[in-house]
Amino acid sequence: MNKWTYFFSRELTEGNKEMKNLLGGKGANLAEMSSIGINVPPGFTITTNACLSYESEKILIDDIKNSIQDSLQKLQELTGKKLGCSENPLLVSVRSGAAISMPGMMDTVLNLGMNDEVVETVSRNTKNPRFAWDSYRRFIEMYCDVVLGINSSILSVSFEDFKADKGVDKDTDLTADDLKQVVQNFKQTLLQESGVSFPADPHTQLWLAIEAVFKSWSNPRAIKYRELNDISHDLGTAVNVQSMVFGNFGDDSATGVCFTRDPSTGERRFFGEYLINAQGEDVVSGTRTPCPINEYSKNESNASKVTLERTLPEAYKELVSVYEILEAHYRDMQDMEFTIERGELFLLQTRNGKRTARAGIKIAVDLAKEGLISKKDAILRVDPKGLDQILHPRINPGPNEVFLAQGLPASPGAASGILAFTAEQAVQYGENGVSCILVRQETSPEDIAGMVSSVGILTSRGGMTSHAAVVARGMGKPCVAGCSSATIHEQSRTVNIGDKELSSGDKITIEGSTGKVYLGEVPTEEAQLTEEFNELMEWADEFRKMSVRTNADTPSDVEKAVSFGAQGIGLCRTEHMFFDSERILAVREMIFANSKKDRELALHKILPFQKEDFIGIYEKLNGLPCNIRLLDPPLHEFLPSLEKDQASLAVKIGVELKDIKNRMDNLDEFNPMLGHRGCRLGITYPEIYRFQTRAIFEAAVDCYRRGVGVCPEIMVPLTSSIEEFRMVKEIIIREIVELTKSTPEVNNIDYKIGTMIEIPRAAILAKEIAKDSDFFSFGTNDLTQTTYGISRDDGGKFLPSYIEQEIFPKDPFAHLDRAGVGFLVKMATEQGRQGNKNLHVGICGEHGGDPESIEFCQMLNLEYISCSPFRVPIARIAAAQAAIKK
Ligand code: PEP
Ligand code: MG
Repeated sequence: MNKWTYFFSRELTEGNKEMKNLLGGKGANLAEMSSIGINVPPGFTITTNACLSYESEKILIDDIKNSIQDSLQKLQELTGKKLGCSENPLLVSVRSGAAISMPGMMDTVLNLGMNDEVVETVSRNTKNPRFAWDSYRRFIEMYCDVVLGINSSILSVSFEDFKADKGVDKDTDLTADDLKQVVQNFKQTLLQESGVSFPADPHTQLWLAIEAVFKSWSNPRAIKYRELNDISHDLGTAVNVQSMVFGNFGDDSATGVCFTRDPSTGERRFFGEYLINAQGEDVVSGTRTPCPINEYSKNESNASKVTLERTLPEAYKELVSVYEILEAHYRDMQDMEFTIERGELFLLQTRNGKRTARAGIKIAVDLAKEGLISKKDAILRVDPKGLDQILHPRINPGPNEVFLAQGLPASPGAASGILAFTAEQAVQYGENGVSCILVRQETSPEDIAGMVSSVGILTSRGGMTSHAAVVARGMGKPCVAGCSSATIHEQSRTVNIGDKELSSGDKITIEGSTGKVYLGEVPTEEAQLTEEFNELMEWADEFRKMSVRTNADTPSDVEKAVSFGAQGIGLCRTEHMFFDSERILAVREMIFANSKKDRELALHKILPFQKEDFIGIYEKLNGLPCNIRLLDPPLHEFLPSLEKDQASLAVKIGVELKDIKNRMDNLDEFNPMLGHRGCRLGITYPEIYRFQTRAIFEAAVDCYRRGVGVCPEIMVPLTSSIEEFRMVKEIIIREIVELTKSTPEVNNIDYKIGTMIEIPRAAILAKEIAKDSDFFSFGTNDLTQTTYGISRDDGGKFLPSYIEQEIFPKDPFAHLDRAGVGFLVKMATEQGRQGNKNLHVGICGEHGGDPESIEFCQMLNLEYISCSPFRVPIARIAAAQAAIKK
């Protein structure tokens, strides 16, 4: 049989804090507080199951009604008061409370049970007519709004008019007679405006109020809130019926909210606000400015007000001891609601308080040090995604900021700058010390210099693993990608965005953590790493099983990543090095070479540069593993797209412009992502991979001679066949053997040769490929692209609509699709390990920095995850959480 109601009081409590799903957060905690001896007004909770029954039946079924009546009877017996009784009337609050807190979304009615007769009794019994009539007037206001669905402004206008007529500013200045008049006015207004008389029978009031709270689960704002916060619509709300205590009794009464620690900094200081002679809504509604409970809670707007500590010192002292009990009991920072009635303190709610990311870390670390929680608990309490908030600057928009558009949150951080429409323009601005945002339809490797020179990147196309997203993340710069409401006109250097047309010189602000774009300069808050952050990272490392590496290809990125705790490089994309202005010409010469010999000549020019790159990187790694991927992108990406640049190239390398165009036509591909790229380049132009191998080993020997540890891992991209991989491996080994002849120290370099798994066929043939491979690294960007058959650069056009229609639960380029792509990863890992028991397996796609994908990697016991430098701390925490949860 269903139990529909749970009683709570000091004498009898049926629920506890673990029963949030059934009793809602508020109900479960009222029960818990009652059972540990906190002064909570008694009452009962009607379960979320009752709400679900009401939702389907559209009435309160008899079983539920009987249960409510029984509990009401118990409450009446316990308090010695009765609903509607002319001698000792019971007044109750009826409050919503779902399992997951939805602040302000659902409804509450206070002072229920009032009518013309009861108000007189309350007035007599309390010898406080003002209080009685004030409570009655509040009840009518709330009841009309919540239960009768009458626009609340009708009564509040009537109330404000009345105060104006009386020449009174504050509610508390109205007398009992004034309030009596207000009540009459309310009832009249209600009748005139809606033809409804105010229900005098307290039992009718109660039934209607309970139904109204159940109905509020499905009001539009609650539905919207759940959609925005990923909360299921199937949970339902509980209803708490609780005997009233009154903070509006007089100057020895008050109501307030408080936090056991500062929710914005996490500092261990008691913090809160209160109002004398008021009820709960007055604090939250903003009709009166609340006062600080203590000195610490003072701010600019309330500094002159008297603290609770001063006005009601006994009650304050009691509140302090209650907060200490509650925090120790719940082992977390609490957000509490309290009421003081004639000096006596009552608790009306407690819950784990919401907090900023920074406060979250400090609180978790402090609680562990105070012995309230374990280190493991501290790690599990931190939301790794929230770390973006403390690792990157954020915007702090005022009310007047002009929001322009929403794109994808491709790389976190915030920046303001003037618009730059080309990489060249961005470089110029950069050289003149002007902050600019590079605005492109999408970026290509050609834009790298412009990306380096800009403070942020905005693209109108492309998804979460588009070039712009991946490169910006690597640089730790904010990027909003796939902002489809921006139409960019590169020629005229204008962009239509939202309802505005902007041009060079106009300023915008982007927030890459949310994908938002604003007009002009929006103030930003700087990132700051705290002592507790470093401490938590160290704790995470104690529990983590997978190594955390980084995707980086410059010494400075490597340095940054190592300072964040990276344990090596999981992916060094060598192509990024080719775009440097000093070497791009040689790269282009290599592409235009007509013979192997000419290609080798051009490659020889690049060799010293590439060697220098690797030396710089090895030095920063100082013996940590360095996974270097051989050239991957199709060659056309290295050629200039603008005619003027093509003409200039023709002059520089001494060929006709038409030859340049011919070669470009020749390299042009309908689908370059699936074209002549990856190891297919190495097969057709083995000299490219040979020269890269040479650079890797010459650099390694250079470091070795100076006592710098080196541990290169050569990675072959886009493998799809065993024969293909073997052939490329042979090219690499032959070059190593060749080099050993002139440089015998090569024999002292410990190296590995392995492959990316980023094509489904490679995953399927993993067992065989593993026999020849030292390691696998899952390139889940391409693996997602090729498994779904969705272009990683064009998916942005329809993926949001797929997600909105719940065809895909999430963007598979941001969060690994466990069922499909994940299946391949799992199979390839298992098969690969069968083929080679020493196989080292990692992931270097963008999913390597995503907490839920990291959890999946831990399930498969991968050896490492690799992500962009700024995501290393997130990955460390997420990997520790995954290991603890496993
Ligand atoms: C991948 O495909 O997952 C990968 C890491 O390589 P890239 O993003 O450079 O294609
Ligand atoms: Mg790839």
